[in-house]
Amino acid sequence: MTKQHLVAVVGAGPAGIYGTRKLAEAGHRVVLLNRDIKPGGLAEYGIFVDKEKMKTGLRKQFKRILADPRVFYLGHVSVGDNQALTLSDLKEIGLSAVVVTAGAQGTKKLGIPGEESVGVYHAKDVVYHYNSLPPFSQQKFEIGRRVAIIGMGNVMVDIANWLLNHKKIDRVVVVARRGPLEKAYDDSEFEVIEQYLDNAAMRKEIERIRPQLTAVGQNVDDILAKFVKQGEPAEGRRLEFRYLCAPTKVIANSDGWVTALEVEENEMILKDGKTVATGTGKHSRVDVDCLIYAIGDQVDASLGLPFSRGAFVTNPEKLPGDPSPAAYQPYDPQARKVLEGIFVAGWSRNASVGLVGVAKQDAERGMKVVNEYLNSKEGFTAGEMEAKIEAMLETLKRKGASVVTKEDVEILDGVEQEEARKRKTWDFKFTSDDKMLEVIKERKTAR
Ligand SMILES: Cc1cc2nc3c(=O)[nH]c(=O)nc-3n(C[C@H](O)[C@H](O)[C@H](O)COP(=O)(O)OP(=O)(O)OC[C@H]3O[C@@H](n4cnc5c(N)ncnc54)[C@H](O)[C@@H]3O)c2cc1C
Repeated sequence: MTKQHLVAVVGAGPAGIYGTRKLAEAGHRVVLLNRDIKPGGLAEYGIFVDKEKMKTGLRKQFKRILADPRVFYLGHVSVGDNQALTLSDLKEIGLSAVVVTAGAQGTKKLGIPGEESVGVYHAKDVVYHYNSLPPFSQQKFEIGRRVAIIGMGNVMVDIANWLLNHKKIDRVVVVARRGPLEKAYDDSEFEVIEQYLDNAAMRKEIERIRPQLTAVGQNVDDILAKFVKQGEPAEGRRLEFRYLCAPTKVIANSDGWVTALEVEENEMILKDGKTVATGTGKHSRVDVDCLIYAIGDQVDASLGLPFSRGAFVTNPEKLPGDPSPAAYQPYDPQARKVLEGIFVAGWSRNASVGLVGVAKQDAERGMKVVNEYLNSKEGFTAGEMEAKIEAMLETLKRKGASVVTKEDVEILDGVEQEEARKRKTWDFKFTSDDKMLEVIKERKTAR
């Protein structure tokens, strides 16, 4: 009797979906478990709202992969401690392997006083909000008129884009530990907010830090030529930068609302050819009424894998290859052994690193490691696999989960597209899980 492997993939973002494709191509069956009703992860709920071509292109690819009969999609299912399914549940059911591609859902903080004040947010939550992911879609964000964004990568650009072009707020100040040349955003991404750059303020800011830039051998005239353009900011909205500043304290009023960010001014030194920021002990403040951390995320410790310093612990034993196959194996540092049959990939392996293409490549490399592992195992008969899927559905039912299948997602997509056409827009999303579940149910009963 032919035997096949049954693999659970936890998380249907780009890493989970492209990884699933590799597993299915190798002949295995995959149960793809996803926290959100819809698949796509940050491709659906992170990539900026107006990137129509990219988003629709990815959706089409994901749909094709999910259509594979070897793939069984279960949406609206969180895996983790005290969730609809725990890793122990999966272990008990006894699958061939479990692959964790749940992204980086944990929140990274700076650990400075006052960061729990009203008006302090994390980029991921804001991004999920404007991309209509429940429950963030329904959460109220107290944005105000003057917002500081901490961090200088592409996520900062997306947030500034939303604030300036969509929310039309007055002033965005980007706070960065190092200088203009240490930016992590791409110039092509920056174009969408460049029109708001306060060039006079930018010139002043670069002049302010001239001695520190010169001290590490940076040519200030070249920097001025690259970063300062002509003209006034468009429509009175302003984008400014505060370089060489490390946040030290969030200042709130007596009602607990943020009013300012205190920063320590930095200087830079060269270490192994790289610029490193060090504090000067001199403090200043930036007046704001909202503060958004765009400093990257960490993995979600409650998933149940060994966790240390924002990441899942992986096998320290390096094997040939870059990244080493060991990097995909969660590792128990107490027992000093890998977790048999469990793997990690994508942003769950390397939080907040890279674009969709990077997550895809990482998952594909990871699945080579998984497939090699599976080659040494026996697999299950069709009947045994059905029984295991049944057991999973039984556990979910017992815990009261309202599970969504790929056929349900198709129905939902159809209704959302109808809505989009009615509203003469390319995209429409229902903003609550209840509404999505209701729409699916209604359409199914009407059939
Ligand atoms: C603001 C922002 C903008 C971006 N813009 C771009 C862009 O323009 N172009 C580009 O190429 N890349 C962009 N990226 C990067 C891209 O989104 C990531 O590289 C990619 O999505 C990472 O894939 P992933 O599958 O590892 O994680 P994610 O995309 O985060 O997917 C994780 C999946 O796991 C699920 N999940 C989470 N926890 C659980 C759980 N406990 N149980 C079950 N399921 C769970 C989630 O529902 C989600 O579906 C952007 C990222 C961000 C944050």
